Amino acid sequence: MPELPEVETVKRGLAPHLVGARLTRVVANRQDLRFPLPERFAARLTGARVETLERRAKYLLASLDTGETLVAHLGMTGRFLVGSSQPGAFHFAAGADPKHTHLVFQTSEGTEIAYNDARRFGYVDLIATADLSRHPWFAGLGPEPLGEAFTPRHLGEAFGGRSQAVKTALLDQRIVAGLGNIYVCEALFRSGIDPKTPAGEIGRARLSRLVTVVREVLEEAILAGGSTLRDFRDADGALGYFQHSFKVYGREDGPCLKPGCQGVVRRFVQGGRSTFFCATCQT
Ligand SMILES: [Zn+2]
Repeated sequence: MPELPEVETVKRGLAPHLVGARLTRVVANRQDLRFPLPERFAARLTGARVETLERRAKYLLASLDTGETLVAHLGMTGRFLVGSSQPGAFHFAAGADPKHTHLVFQTSEGTEIAYNDARRFGYVDLIATADLSRHPWFAGLGPEPLGEAFTPRHLGEAFGGRSQAVKTALLDQRIVAGLGNIYVCEALFRSGIDPKTPAGEIGRARLSRLVTVVREVLEEAILAGGSTLRDFRDADGALGYFQHSFKVYGREDGPCLKPGCQGVVRRFVQGGRSTFFCATCQT
């Protein structure tokens, strides 16, 4: 699945083409993705001007001057194409197969933006902008990990009294939004915290370090163009040419990369997800 950094890079790639532009023509080549398209999808979008393009967790949100917001989730294999180029972090050896282009948006700037999704786990909706924060996809989401509200104090309060493992707690979207398995593993490695540590037992200094490294791993991944994800390559056989260098994720039985550590990266399953960590330096 695309993680937060990939979605962020897609947002940054699309923004110059969308923000301030009017949608002059919208074509839906089918009536459903993962879920049915909203009623009169193309008609409600045609003529609308895009005022802002934001990301919340792993959702893209284009607010329109009609009072609605176009919300898009990329699912597993969703990607946007601007003309023939693909903004954002997904690097495929194979080009997008036009038969999987489900939505096409033409803008007043003369740009054509296509949504292509081979497996169709992605989805879109049109939601009244005023109701967004109460919508089930967004109500109850914790702060953005790159936003100002994600602080050691917030984490301390959210973890307070919890016996749940810190790894599992960091994947709880109510505590922090959009932080996926890969980046939680990497952040815990960098902060030297054992993923099994009860969340409520993490002291203030380590909480502070954790917030810093969560931001670092995400920002580095965004700068590097996101990660290339195994799910994608397996899904349609396209090999990514960019490989983000993870320190622990996907490195089971490999040597720990922390300078001076003689440990080995181990994997175990926590809350149904693989955890990669070094038992020697994560304590
Ligand atoms: Zn180590």
